[in-house]
Amino acid sequence: MHEPIFSLEVFPPKRDAPVGTIYDTLDGLEGLMPDFISVTYGTGKQSDRTATARIARTIHTEYGIPSVAHLTAQYADKEIVDQALDMFDRAGVAAVLPLRGDSVEGRTPAGVFDHASDLVAYIHAKRPDMTIFGACYPETHPEAASPQADLDNLKIKVDAGASHLISQLFYDNDYFTDFLGRARGTGIDVPIEAGIMPITNASQVRHMSEVCAASIPPAVNTILDRWGDDRTSLREAGIIYASQQIADLVSQGVDGIHLYSMNQAGVTRRIWHNVRHLFKVRQASSSMLSL
Ligand code: FAD
Repeated sequence: MHEPIFSLEVFPPKRDAPVGTIYDTLDGLEGLMPDFISVTYGTGKQSDRTATARIARTIHTEYGIPSVAHLTAQYADKEIVDQALDMFDRAGVAAVLPLRGDSVEGRTPAGVFDHASDLVAYIHAKRPDMTIFGACYPETHPEAASPQADLDNLKIKVDAGASHLISQLFYDNDYFTDFLGRARGTGIDVPIEAGIMPITNASQVRHMSEVCAASIPPAVNTILDRWGDDRTSLREAGIIYASQQIADLVSQGVDGIHLYSMNQAGVTRRIWHNVRHLFKVRQASSSMLSL
């Protein structure tokens, strides 16, 4: 049996934020040695799209951790994607997570890569050696016609070249377990990592759960009601809740855990401290991932 993967996600700081904040985050994560760190790609007006490649490069050259660069599809044409791939080559980034990307008000999609699977197929043809990831949705993507239609679309993404999936955040493990069974039943047999986002801010949890269509189970509602206005206690309860979610998922034999760090190194370290023994000593040879 493979050891579960443990990976993290970080995001580039906003244009007006001091650039050093991301290095503070990475410094704070030092010593955790996740299997990889993925770096998000912005579609908003405020985002600096070269930042993803720069941060991904820093992660693997300066911190010695494999990195995965996100890349969004719907506003990109082939020229933009080619430029991004060249940038990733120069940065030595060997893995990419193509996404459709969320819609931005006032921006018209380029109409070239309508779905993430279109971008996956394009990258797979252009860079056959690149490891390609894909996103998936335990509670079904909000725009999907049905749960099975979403899985059928996910199968198209895997068949196009995505060899590793990372799930949207969820707060109720039963959704993930159920999804895993349905995905395997649809013939999706690549590793699927469970996406965990720690609860640290009540309004953010409510906002994210709306945007991502992630249900808030009664246990999380109770935490939010009790400590929603008390950041310190909410953070502590959130660390415990995420740690319990991870322990339960690892005990069930999941392929891996992808922790949405939200660039909060302190919270990430505390969770890792709680669960690290469940991952044993991860060695490259025993991991199901080679980047
Ligand atoms: P798709 O796989 O294209 O799916 C989107 C919808 O289209 C689904 O309803 C699906 O069922 C449907 N669909 C897919 N293929 C087809 C097809 N061939 N025919 C018909 N329908 C189809 N956003 C960012 O902007 N930047 C990021 O860095 C980022 N990182 C993320 C990381 C993870 C792990 C996750 C889970 C999400 C991330 N997102 C990011 C958000 C993501 O862009 C949104 O969730 C977006 O709405 C869907 O992206 P997707 O790649 O899953 O799209």
